[in-house]
Amino acid sequence: MSKHTGGCHCGKVTIKTDLEPMLVNRCNCARCRKLLGVVAVAAMFGEDEVEIQGEVSVYEYTGGSGMPVKSHFCSTCGCRIYGKAESFPGMIAITIGVFDKSLELKPKSEIFNNYKLSWLEDDGCIKERFDESAVEKRLMMLIETLENR
Ligand SMILES: [Zn+2]
Ligand SMILES: [Zn+2]
Repeated sequence: MSKHTGGCHCGKVTIKTDLEPMLVNRCNCARCRKLLGVVAVAAMFGEDEVEIQGEVSVYEYTGGSGMPVKSHFCSTCGCRIYGKAESFPGMIAITIGVFDKSLELKPKSEIFNNYKLSWLEDDGCIKERFDESAVEKRLMMLIETLENR
């Protein structure tokens, strides 16, 4: 049995993986806020670690690091499945809302803290807060987590 399963709202795209994410991160940037409605929280995996089935569309934009990000979303219901940033080669960031057990996936870090909605809180799960995109700091966190998965 897979450790995590999920899919989009209409059910045409499904995901499954046998692994825990390398990092769950909250992004407070204005791009994510517009693309995802309020705030983005995504679980990072290696792109080979998650089996994704169904038809996705791709929208490319410039991310906070200045490098391209490809947003992959269900062609039918528009649900964002994952983002793939060139600043994180070989990785995908799956929107936690698509997981069946999304309540179990809590962010450990957050970025663009300097753009955060002032009323947004957390339950103490977030241990590291960074202003701006903090790509190198997040890569360090990913490497540290790899050994403990
Ligand atoms: Zn769908
Ligand atoms: Zn963002």
